Amino acid sequence: MSNLEGTSIIGGKSTARGSRSFQAFDPATGQNLEPSFYAASGADVERACQLAGDAFESYGRTSPEARAAFLRAIAEGLEADGAAIVERAHAESALPLARLQGELGRTCNQLRLFAEVVEEGSWVDARIDTADPARKPPKPDVRSMRRPIGPVVVFGASNFPLAFSTAGGDTASALAAGNPVIVKAHPAHPGAGELVARVIAAAVKHSALPPATFALLFDDGVTVGQTLVKHPLIRAVGFTGSRRGGEALMRLAASRPDPVPVYAEMGSVNPVVIFPGALHERAAAIAEGLHASFTVGVGQFCTNPGVVFLEAGAEGDAFVDLLAERTRATPAGAMLTTTISAAYAGGVSALSDRGAQRIANGKAGTFAASGEASLWQVAASRALSEPHLLEEVFGPNTLIVRYGSLAELDEVIRALDGQLTATVHALPEELREHETLLQHLARKAGRLVANQFPTGVEVNHAMVHGGPFPATSDGQSTSVGTHAIERFTRYVAYQNWPDDALPAELREGNPRGIWRMVNGERRPARA
Ligand code: NAP
Repeated sequence: MSNLEGTSIIGGKSTARGSRSFQAFDPATGQNLEPSFYAASGADVERACQLAGDAFESYGRTSPEARAAFLRAIAEGLEADGAAIVERAHAESALPLARLQGELGRTCNQLRLFAEVVEEGSWVDARIDTADPARKPPKPDVRSMRRPIGPVVVFGASNFPLAFSTAGGDTASALAAGNPVIVKAHPAHPGAGELVARVIAAAVKHSALPPATFALLFDDGVTVGQTLVKHPLIRAVGFTGSRRGGEALMRLAASRPDPVPVYAEMGSVNPVVIFPGALHERAAAIAEGLHASFTVGVGQFCTNPGVVFLEAGAEGDAFVDLLAERTRATPAGAMLTTTISAAYAGGVSALSDRGAQRIANGKAGTFAASGEASLWQVAASRALSEPHLLEEVFGPNTLIVRYGSLAELDEVIRALDGQLTATVHALPEELREHETLLQHLARKAGRLVANQFPTGVEVNHAMVHGGPFPATSDGQSTSVGTHAIERFTRYVAYQNWPDDALPAELREGNPRGIWRMVNGERRPARA
């Protein structure tokens, strides 16, 4: 195992050990893991923010090529240290090694994808409206583009210790746009966090960037995170986690004298609608895919299908039997933390208190943080009168909601909160026939899936991993895919600005050769 120091990293250097410490914990065995990690002090937080503010002065003006090379250097460093990172993440999260190796690959691909986006350049959305002095009144020359916003604080996710954490999507997109990043390390995987942070710090040095382009701060409580969000030099926040945590940070950021955006991804029940025709044609295949989707990774995915709408009647009953059989055969898994497994147990027992019927349980486990699969059923009428039934229970469970008619299905869909995804299993003619109902579903979600399952989020140019509140704090953005870069920017317009003082993307000769909108026409890149 690589040497872990257990200290925060500020300005490229380890901080002194603080007075408060905590240890990581193996959720499979219940053993504490060495070493101790020291919570950052108030002075550490202040220094990290001041230095990040200073770093922004130059990092915010780096060339796209320099930032692309930096992102690629991080990816190379992660690959070089991959074995140690994956091993430590495995010990801290109990996620299987193969899954973590895949996650490391995804993290590196994501960094390289942002490097390409930054080099290609059109993400800045450059627009040029040239002057017309003869117009009455005279038309001024106005040019605009996206600019970086300033230091960004990132709260990584417990369920993706690599791809949504220290060097994950929020960090990659914020760095790509030209913003220094301060990560509040997730206390469920501090060792993996430190190893990854050291790779980023080395890439900062290798790329000759300001050392405070990146910082990592430890804490096992909320003080450091809250102080960061309130700090006047912080310009935006990325968060993945619970609704409670996300909302607390949203409130904090909104109560600042100068409120800043919080891009919080807080999870969802990811409704799956099964139409009668699709059920009739391929019940067994849908049951198999659904079971795999709600139990994969011990159900610890924000895209886990937690609510399934299924017609009442004999064919629906047979489908539930198929799913019950698979659920009973599902081995228990170790969840990420004991807090998450306790929250899961609490969420499952609340389903029973709220009138759902338990259909099947998976096999019992003996892990320190065990999570057992469970399958539930309730009538749509009950879900309508008890809307808490339609809230997320984070873990390997799903609730089948039985609808008596398509009108009732429509009613319960309209009662849903905002979602990251919504999935439909339907025949082509059912998609056509139920267009209005599907529009009601579409209003609820950031990603609409037809005849597949919501788990597995591709990182590409088109992906939307977002959705109306409470799935996220900002339904207009995505935290996965290249659009994510737009969150950590703001548009700036330059009026009558001399050509040689403009950013290269807006200059006359198009020296960066990017796509631009010129006087309302989309103009191709030129060399
Ligand atoms: P969490 O409790 O929301 O914590 C996520 C991060 O935010 C941690 O670093 C945490 O710091 C910090 N945080 C939480 N509340 C805060 C507050 N009030 N002020 C400042 N910082 C705060 O998430 P978790 O520990 O990963 O898992 C708990 C639950 O979150 C799960 O049971 C599940 O329901 C949900 N979850 C959702 C997703 C998703 O994809 N949206 C992913 C993972 C978990 P500390 O831990 O140091 O307090």
